[in-house]
Amino acid sequence: MIASDVVYLQAESVDEAVTAWHEYAESGRAVRYFSGGTEIVTGARHRDDVDVLIDVKRIPELTRVPGGGARPLTDTLFVGAAARLSDLADQEAVPLLAAAARGVADRTARNSITFGGNLCSVLPYRETALPLLLFDATLVLASLDGLRGVPARECFRRRLQLRPGELVVGADLPAVARETGYSARRTRDPRVDYPLVTLCMACLGGSVRFAVAGAYGYPVRSLEAEQVLAAAAREEPRARAERAVAAIEDRLWDDFRGSAAYRRELLLLVLAEGLSRLEDA
Ligand SMILES: Cc1cc2nc3c(=O)[nH]c(=O)nc-3n(C[C@H](O)[C@H](O)[C@H](O)COP(=O)(O)OP(=O)(O)OC[C@H]3O[C@@H](n4cnc5c(N)ncnc54)[C@H](O)[C@@H]3O)c2cc1C
Repeated sequence: MIASDVVYLQAESVDEAVTAWHEYAESGRAVRYFSGGTEIVTGARHRDDVDVLIDVKRIPELTRVPGGGARPLTDTLFVGAAARLSDLADQEAVPLLAAAARGVADRTARNSITFGGNLCSVLPYRETALPLLLFDATLVLASLDGLRGVPARECFRRRLQLRPGELVVGADLPAVARETGYSARRTRDPRVDYPLVTLCMACLGGSVRFAVAGAYGYPVRSLEAEQVLAAAAREEPRARAERAVAAIEDRLWDDFRGSAAYRRELLLLVLAEGLSRLEDA
């Protein structure tokens, strides 16, 4: 449970949220943005210190989903940070984002978990980051200095790199994010489980791109691996997948859910399958 003396504030605008964050932080209090709240509430049970919660779900820009009726902030494929994963799973404008959202938890949890919360999670999966990395999306961040746009691949160095008090407003995806692409998710338990591997893949202008969660301790997209795939274009999918995975410098994750060798094998299987599907299409 969250302690009863925590200050809870519902912000109505980006400015109000960011200003409040700084005012409370300057008085020495531990301030957090509160979106779906699932991770914050779990953390509070484990005695994570928090004095002030700033709920961002009423801020109109933050609740926008692609193809939704509200006026876009910057682009027709803008996704607001407080969009619920259940709404992202149901939208059709960005199929790979819908697929990533559908993979997370179950429908009941997705009715609470938000896009921004998933991107900022302390857990290693952050599956909705995959389409952002794949399509070179721009993250829209708000601070006291106003809004700034940062390429997702710059902002995601293992974790989302936010300045103190910075609010994720959402992400702008380019029009190519309407591509269907290919996605696959492999878990230990077939019902609801964290991923051993989640793959998000598309063929854009003849070049294959892919991003992976679960196999490493954070979401990964490797341009080197994509170059290797392109250079080995004449080889069989399995051989190309092996070369590409060998080119990824990050260390495969090894824990009680699955060994590094098992995750690697699953990654090779889905990557080879994705290559076959995309290139036969
Ligand atoms: C049952 C269950 C199953 C799950 N399974 C998966 C899974 O399979 N794959 C996966 O990727 N994740 C999974 N998760 C993890 C989940 O995506 C994260 O815990 C996520 O943080 C929860 O989102 P939330 O909106 O509830 O976040 P909150 O609890 O509201 O916030 C989480 C963190 O993000 C910060 N934050 C939230 N919004 C913003 C913002 N706009 N700007 C700046 N900071 C912000 C908060 O301050 C806090 O630090 C699962 C969670 C649950 C409960």
